[in-house]
Amino acid sequence: MTRILHRHTRTTYPVAVRGEGIHLFDSAGKRYIDASGGAAVSCLGHGHPRVVAAIQRQAETLAYAHTSFFTSEPAEALAEVLVEGAPAGIGHVYFVSGGSEAVEAALKLARQYFLEIGQPERRHVIARWQSYHGNTLGALAAGGNLWRRRPFEPLLVDMPHVAACYPYRGMRPGESEEAYGRRVADELETEILRLGPGTVAAFVAETVVGATLGAVPPVPGYLPRIREICDRHGVLLILDEVMCGMGRTGTLHACEQEGVAPDLMTIAKGLGGGYQPIGAVLLSERIFAAVRDGSGFFQHGHTYLGHPVACAAALEVQRVIADEDLLANVRRQGAVLMEALTARFGDHPHVGDIRGRGLFQAIELVADRNTKEPFDPALKLNARIKADAMARGLLCYPMGGTVDGQRGDHVLLAPPFTLTEAQAAEIVRLLGEAVDACTKDIGP
Ligand code: PLP
Repeated sequence: MTRILHRHTRTTYPVAVRGEGIHLFDSAGKRYIDASGGAAVSCLGHGHPRVVAAIQRQAETLAYAHTSFFTSEPAEALAEVLVEGAPAGIGHVYFVSGGSEAVEAALKLARQYFLEIGQPERRHVIARWQSYHGNTLGALAAGGNLWRRRPFEPLLVDMPHVAACYPYRGMRPGESEEAYGRRVADELETEILRLGPGTVAAFVAETVVGATLGAVPPVPGYLPRIREICDRHGVLLILDEVMCGMGRTGTLHACEQEGVAPDLMTIAKGLGGGYQPIGAVLLSERIFAAVRDGSGFFQHGHTYLGHPVACAAALEVQRVIADEDLLANVRRQGAVLMEALTARFGDHPHVGDIRGRGLFQAIELVADRNTKEPFDPALKLNARIKADAMARGLLCYPMGGTVDGQRGDHVLLAPPFTLTEAQAAEIVRLLGEAVDACTKDIGP
């Protein structure tokens, strides 16, 4: 008997009672290797003593002070650290409590920026299909994930969508990655022209697509081309790095590897590593200056923004990552994990693609490797793999709807930045067993 409206009302969830490093333990004493950090959250693993101590210190000193009255030391210090590591042009930070809130704030900041600079006709935000930006209504409207959108469609504001950059399925035979990237990026320009240049405020995209597609990085040249199109039409570029950012792909921000700097960037998950709920919007000086020199007030706000304990936790998470040079380990173990996945699944009859960057990787499952035909969604392969893996003591992040929001399955891996070679091998071994067990009886 539970009084909680759980995610699934007919599922009985084990009770998680303890976390230590890469492992979680339930109340029956079962140990799980956490290969996805939940949903790419736990970048330091569980129970890190430095972060625990920082939270305790902050809670004892000052747990909460409303941001309409005060600022706080941990929030100021964290903002300094974030701006120091941010892409060119970013000069300020707006704190929130998670990814969806960060996306909402970024969308509103984009709109308010154009009001501040006297371009009120800029009202459209263009987003991409096969993306996820959160479950609040604004973020859901931006998201391009059909099954998540469908029930709430009547409540969603209209945001036009253009194609994702998804080479495994989108590239035409004989087309180069560069040509493909240019073709899909140019869809943005076509859409801007259709809506009317001067009416578009922003374009929003995940730098590396996470939950919806399963760790799909852009092809070379795609994001620079997007940046160029945005600049040509005075459109702000919002990069959503809630899942792929804060070191997950081997650089602090995923966009660094593309040589592109956004006007607004959302971060969350790896910012606080799951130790506290926290997210943030990083904003360019241009946007900050427009608000400062205009109304002087961002017309937004939540009760818990800039929460001192959340900021103290995130600050310590970021300090540990820097002190222990963990991004070097993300790159090193990312290569190890990719090699192990390729060795195990490279010839697997039901694995069509192995992809990702750093410790953000995925396999895409197919009924037929040659035709790329996905499994029948009625088989719920992704849910089967999740349950089978969990029974084996492996936590991974499978999802359905990879192809078009309905068909297709992938499994996302996002282990902690502290991953060792032995742990990478164990993850791949258990995932291999789960995939074999779940696909062996359900061929095309
Ligand atoms: N944006 C991206 C790219 C995400 O992956 C997510 C969550 O998975 C969100 C936004 C929403 O974050 P939250 O669940 O913290 O609201």
